[in-house]
Amino acid sequence: MFTVNAIAAPSATDPLVRTTVERRDPGPRDVLIEISYAGICHSDIHTVRGEWGEVPYPLTVGHEIVGHVTKVGAEVTRHRVGDRVGVGCMVNSCRECANCRAGQEQYCLNGNVGTYASTDRDGTVTQGGYSTHIVVDEDFVLRVPEAIPHEAAAPLLCAGITTYSPLAHWKAGPGRKVAVVGMGGLGHMAVKIAVAMGAEVTVLSQTLGKKDDGLRFGAEHYHATSDPATFEALADTFDLIVNTVSAPIDVNAYLRLLRLDGTMVNVGAPPEPLPVKVFTLFSNRRSFAGSSIGGIAETQEMLDFCAEHGIAPEIELIDADRVNEAYERVLTSDVRYRFVIDVDSLR
Ligand code: NAP
Ligand code: ZN
Ligand code: ZN
Repeated sequence: MFTVNAIAAPSATDPLVRTTVERRDPGPRDVLIEISYAGICHSDIHTVRGEWGEVPYPLTVGHEIVGHVTKVGAEVTRHRVGDRVGVGCMVNSCRECANCRAGQEQYCLNGNVGTYASTDRDGTVTQGGYSTHIVVDEDFVLRVPEAIPHEAAAPLLCAGITTYSPLAHWKAGPGRKVAVVGMGGLGHMAVKIAVAMGAEVTVLSQTLGKKDDGLRFGAEHYHATSDPATFEALADTFDLIVNTVSAPIDVNAYLRLLRLDGTMVNVGAPPEPLPVKVFTLFSNRRSFAGSSIGGIAETQEMLDFCAEHGIAPEIELIDADRVNEAYERVLTSDVRYRFVIDVDSLR
């Protein structure tokens, strides 16, 4: 074991503080990564504030990680010292269940090992990326293409894959109308990726305050959900709605915007239930679905897709000491569009 600098949440209500965490010595199949940047996902905030359930405090969160390989175990074949790599929301899975064998490790039937707050195979609690180093099994380490600016790449490891996966699964592409609800970290990536896939994209944001940005990201239409006229004008319109909102919304109002055989997929993860009226689903044979991050192979596919299409997250780079302030700004939707911690500030 060795000790590295980190930031951790001591409890659900205390601010995050500087501390240290223990990392295991790299085993034969492990990669040691010196972390350069770590994105701040709203899931980090839900987690540390105890909104999703019990938390093993003190906890270091962060599952949007990029850095360089500084050491590899004897049996590692996929990565070499010096490689630019990333780690997302999972660091292991059973590899044997039907879903793992199908390359859908995020749906591991025996439970994947989350990058933080999970119990690892050795019985320790995983600690996330708001730290200087991490040790991860090589199969859960991604290659980050050089074409993606290093400081902007981290949010792809969660916000990127969480939006790419449902957009690919529900076939966002030419001739398809896609709406993105909420233009924060996930939402702005959903817009950029859906546009690159060739879909006609509409942003549904609380206000028109970010309209210029939405259009710059490639959306063709932008509407305020605070205006009831939006819901009348867009009834029966979309093939796919991707809901990225971190709080409960009136799902039925959005379902009514789906055309025949349209799907609304929820990636936003408020702790509260989202009640659905079945009669809203009957009209137009609509579907209401959910989606969780993406598999490892698909995450690599997403990174390569973003490199090929020149897509990168819009970020605000901060020092580690500004994490608590950043959390407050995320909670008031004052984020343009992802905070990324410069991990050099932790060394
Ligand atoms: P974020 O940056 O805070 O973005 C959420 C956006 O939702 C805000 O920018 C805002 O967009 C909108 N919003 C916030 N509060 C709202 C409210 N009360 N009513 C209506 N709209 C509201 O968060 P994020 O990091 O993108 O994460 C979004 C959600 O996805 C979180 O719940 C997170 O836990 C979840 N998530 C899920 C997965 C998964 O695998 N399914 C993975 C990652 C994250 P506007 O200002 O444009 O309205
Ligand atoms: Zn996340
Ligand atoms: Zn499995």
